[in-house]
Amino acid sequence: MAKDYYELLGVARGASADEVKKAYRKLAVKHHPDKNPGNKEAEESFKEISAAYEVLGDAAKRAQYDQVGHDAYTRRRGGGGQGSDPFDIFSQVFGGSIFDSFFGGGREENGAQGGSDLRYDMQIEFEEAVFGAEKTIEIPRAENCDRCSGSGCEPGTSRRRCNQCGGSGQITMSQGFFSIRQRCPACGGAGERLEQPCRQCRGEGLVEKRKSLKVNIPAGVDTGARLRLSGEGESGRRGGPRGDLYVVLHVAEHDLFKRDGNDLIYEFPVPATQAALGGTLAVPTLTGAAELKIPAGTQDGTIFRLRGKGVPSLRGQGRGDLHVRIRVEIPASLNAAQRTKLEELTVELGEDAFPQRRAFLKKNARFL
Ligand SMILES: [Zn+2]
Ligand SMILES: [Zn+2]
Repeated sequence: MAKDYYELLGVARGASADEVKKAYRKLAVKHHPDKNPGNKEAEESFKEISAAYEVLGDAAKRAQYDQVGHDAYTRRRGGGGQGSDPFDIFSQVFGGSIFDSFFGGGREENGAQGGSDLRYDMQIEFEEAVFGAEKTIEIPRAENCDRCSGSGCEPGTSRRRCNQCGGSGQITMSQGFFSIRQRCPACGGAGERLEQPCRQCRGEGLVEKRKSLKVNIPAGVDTGARLRLSGEGESGRRGGPRGDLYVVLHVAEHDLFKRDGNDLIYEFPVPATQAALGGTLAVPTLTGAAELKIPAGTQDGTIFRLRGKGVPSLRGQGRGDLHVRIRVEIPASLNAAQRTKLEELTVELGEDAFPQRRAFLKKNARFL
């Protein structure tokens, strides 16, 4: 049998809204699971008092509860009487910042704060990705203010201990039954305040500056590669460490070469006559022309591999290959004399010169 909500919170039936709230706060802190790790009983109590407060802390719900009584009220709500998340109720009553400082217990660091990481998207040429490059970029980033050397204090002035909290960064607030400590609103928890904020950075200690940086692009990178420049992000606040800079690469398409990992491929048109005769072709590579020998009777679509003419491997040794796909080109037009010769040649070649066609006809004669 669940306890009456007034009993749970330990308040009289006629208690004011304020008294109900204070009672809840006191019990919620006592039974909060963060304060009682692994204690099932405390967790159960925490849920119960939160459910009780959800009703008694709301004038309309409380009136209804008073009218129908505990059993009828909780039955109507589906037996268990568990409404909202007890942690939600808790943080609604306490508010985020007090919650943090209560359980975190720690005071703020003395304003030192790590700088943010930055991202820079860089467009590079295809060849730069393959061979590597050194690029210069200019980025706007937060740097220590020259005027105050990052302290935020107008030159000749200093930081003073906060007289509101005596330097502890926290103040104690009395709440009737008990007192809670919360972040000092005057100094934001830092424990000290600027006597006079720097005119240039308005006390921030940081100003935005454009910074020129060299970026080494290693050979073999591809689109999406992320280069981390350690410590080249924004300056930290008051001596905090700098963030990092991430350069994200976008590699431009190439007119000829297409990339497949570390391999390169392109299509190379070869006259039908040369494909039939075979021979040596001059083919382009990223490092200049290379010789490619093709055998007599090279068919359309045949791929020849030039080893090591691809992209250097980013990790360790070796390079990818270059694949040259042969596109056999048929003469687009013939004059009368050429036509006669080709007709003569056709007769000369007969069916035997075309084994693929012969095999096809043999297999599929019944359809013809
Ligand atoms: Zn300054
Ligand atoms: Zn203070």
